[in-house]
Amino acid sequence: MSTQFAIDHKNRLIHISEAERGLICNCYCMVCNERMVAKKGQEREHHFAHESNKAACIINHETLLHQFAKRVIQDAGGLVVPPDSNRKITGSLQISQNNPTWLMLDRVEEEKQLDDIRPDLIGYTLDAQVLIEVAYSSFVDDEKMAKLEARDLLALEIDLRAFDPEYFDVETTKEAILNGVDLKKWLYFPEPAVVETKPAFTEEIVTIKGMWVSLRMLPFGDLAVKVIAYNPEVNAIVKAIAKRYYGRWRQDYKNWIVPNRWLQHAINDLRAEADQA
Ligand SMILES: [Zn+2]
Repeated sequence: MSTQFAIDHKNRLIHISEAERGLICNCYCMVCNERMVAKKGQEREHHFAHESNKAACIINHETLLHQFAKRVIQDAGGLVVPPDSNRKITGSLQISQNNPTWLMLDRVEEEKQLDDIRPDLIGYTLDAQVLIEVAYSSFVDDEKMAKLEARDLLALEIDLRAFDPEYFDVETTKEAILNGVDLKKWLYFPEPAVVETKPAFTEEIVTIKGMWVSLRMLPFGDLAVKVIAYNPEVNAIVKAIAKRYYGRWRQDYKNWIVPNRWLQHAINDLRAEADQA
C-alpha cells in the first residue's frame, strides 16, 4: 500500500494513478523524503519506488487516508455535508436541515492538537472550525465524544472503512469524501433529553386562548394535535406549529400529525402558547 502513494512537489499526497511515469513525477517518499520513481510499466502493478531502489518505507493506511482526505478536501475547497436534521449546528455555519450542503472550507489541517483532542483533520471556514474524523480502523469513542461535548466542538465523521488499501480507487474515494453523504455523519453529543422524547403521557390537554387543544401520542410515537372546538385563531396557531415540525393534516380526523422525532419540540411550542393558569 505504501508504494501506492507519494508526496508531490506541492506537498500533496498523490496516488500512483495520478502520477506521471518515471522521475518526472517529481515525487518524494512521505516517510524518508527520498525522491520516488513512478513505475508504470506493463508487467507489475503500478507503484512508486525509491530512487535508490531501497525497500519501501512502511506507512500506516489510516494515515494515508487522512492525508488523502485532507488533500481532496483542500483541492476542492470544501465538501458536501449531511443535513443538520437535529438542528444542532448553530452559529456561522449555514447547514441545511433537510438537504446536503456544500460546506466551503478555506483550509484543512491535519492531526493538529486542540487542547486534549487530536482530530484527524480540522477544516476552517472564515470564522468557524469543523473537526473531521476519518474513520478507518478506529471510530470516535465515548471518551472523545465527551471531550468534544465539553469543548462544544462540532465534528463530522467520514466512514472510509470500505476503502480497502488493496483496491484503492482514487475517483470513488474522492467522490465519497467530497460529494457523498451516505458515509458521513455529524457527531452529536450524547443527548440527556433522549428519555424525554418518549414521554409517559398519552394525552395532554392544553388551553390556548380559552380553547382546548388535545395532544395525543399515537402508538408509533407520532403526535396528534387537535383543536377540540373550531376556532380560526387557535387553528392558525396550531397549524403554524404543526407545519414548523413537518406535520401533516389529516382531514378525516381533523387533526395534525407531527412525526415522532419532532414530538417534543411541537409539545414544547404548544405548551408555550398555552394560557397561563
Ligand atoms: Zn522512504
